[in-house]
Amino acid sequence: MCDRAKRGKSCAMTQSILRKALLEARVPRYTSYPPATRFSQAVGADQHAAWLSTLPATEPISLYAHIPFCRRLCWFCACRTQGTSNAAPLTRFLQTLNAEMRLVETAIGRRQTVSALHLGGGTPTLMEAFQIKALSDAFRAHFDLSQDPEISVEIDPTELDETRLDELVDFGLNRASIGVQDFDPKVQEAIGRLQSAEITAEAVTGLRVRGVKSVNFDLLYGLPYQTPERLSATLAKVLDHKPDRLALYGYAHVPWVAKRQKLIPEEALPDPSARRELAELAQATLVAAGYVPIGIDHYALPKDSMARSAEAGTLRRNFQGYTTDTASALISMGPSAISRFEGGYSQNASATRDWTRAVETGLFATSRGFTLSREDIMVADAIERLMCDGRIDFARMAERHGLRAQALRDRAEAALADLPEIGTLSGDRLAINEMAYARLLAARLDPELESSDGRFSLAS
Ligand code: SF4
Repeated sequence: MCDRAKRGKSCAMTQSILRKALLEARVPRYTSYPPATRFSQAVGADQHAAWLSTLPATEPISLYAHIPFCRRLCWFCACRTQGTSNAAPLTRFLQTLNAEMRLVETAIGRRQTVSALHLGGGTPTLMEAFQIKALSDAFRAHFDLSQDPEISVEIDPTELDETRLDELVDFGLNRASIGVQDFDPKVQEAIGRLQSAEITAEAVTGLRVRGVKSVNFDLLYGLPYQTPERLSATLAKVLDHKPDRLALYGYAHVPWVAKRQKLIPEEALPDPSARRELAELAQATLVAAGYVPIGIDHYALPKDSMARSAEAGTLRRNFQGYTTDTASALISMGPSAISRFEGGYSQNASATRDWTRAVETGLFATSRGFTLSREDIMVADAIERLMCDGRIDFARMAERHGLRAQALRDRAEAALADLPEIGTLSGDRLAINEMAYARLLAARLDPELESSDGRFSLAS
């Protein structure tokens, strides 16, 4: 066999080892470092209050409110949600959220300026119009929203009407994220989420006629009964709306965490190889339609601020995925919500009753979190840059954090020795070849991750 043929054979072998590693890996999504599975009770309400009290007055913060209620409990969903048949429980919930905002304002010591505010859940659009107004008033009472922050809301098109849309726009909504997942009826039935293309189209039109220009669609690949043909048909319908952004997540089948997923017919899930093909098909379709791939699972039109941010190397990653918001602190409220500070993370109690009890007695409901050492902050920064840009400059990391980055570089070198096709290390610069491998490589940079940990979702 000639050298070229040998080289070709060995290259094909390493490619197939790499693909196998990607298809089999179960690793964190790295929306934070360390992942929330490593949080502990060492962080409580006092630490949360202390972090709030040291926020710089001149730096705007980002806010998140978690509204956990849903009328329908979709089987695929691993979010922290709870069912309700109407908006009645939201009345007390919103009073408690208002009380939590007051606690935050008191701990900070002023009405802090806000650069971004996101309502997630759950189904924020379950709120009646008067409840949206009450929530808007509460935010404006406790925070300074005068600098035209980005206000985004997760929208369930089946829980939306004209009055709620009007109220959301009065609130300042300027970026909407619409849950779609897949338009195919058989796929929808298998994931317990029926939603016609027509009702989704009505939501998009309702937003755009009110001046909400920025619309994001959330889609999933790897769903039961999803085939290339069905996914292509869904993508064609999605592209008719030309959303500014798309999030295309791999369905994370973790029934040991999300019990509702036991209702998903496992035998109808695509195998890892078919799943990868679905992801590649979606990527090729979206790129051909003019979208710029962002990080591991987002797409944006070239004129969108997320595409520009990715190009400039200023993209950030947080618990909601990718963001253009550069605030160094994210203050999250509501049950299970996770706040991020420069010094660490704090998470509220997951059960609504525990969160309510604490806040109604005038205490933060922090139940766990993580205090970052200087070394942790550098690892978190390196992993965030890898997940956002696909590149790490270890010399810059060392300079920015005033630490040696040799151990981090050594871990990257070891990963590349095992999986040479994953990327290149040239001097102090690591560059990944394909963003599909970013989670795999991030896990190798994570000094604490147990490689055999099977709790996480598939990386592919
Ligand atoms: S997908 Fe949305 S509506 Fe369905 S359970 Fe999850 S949060 Fe609720």
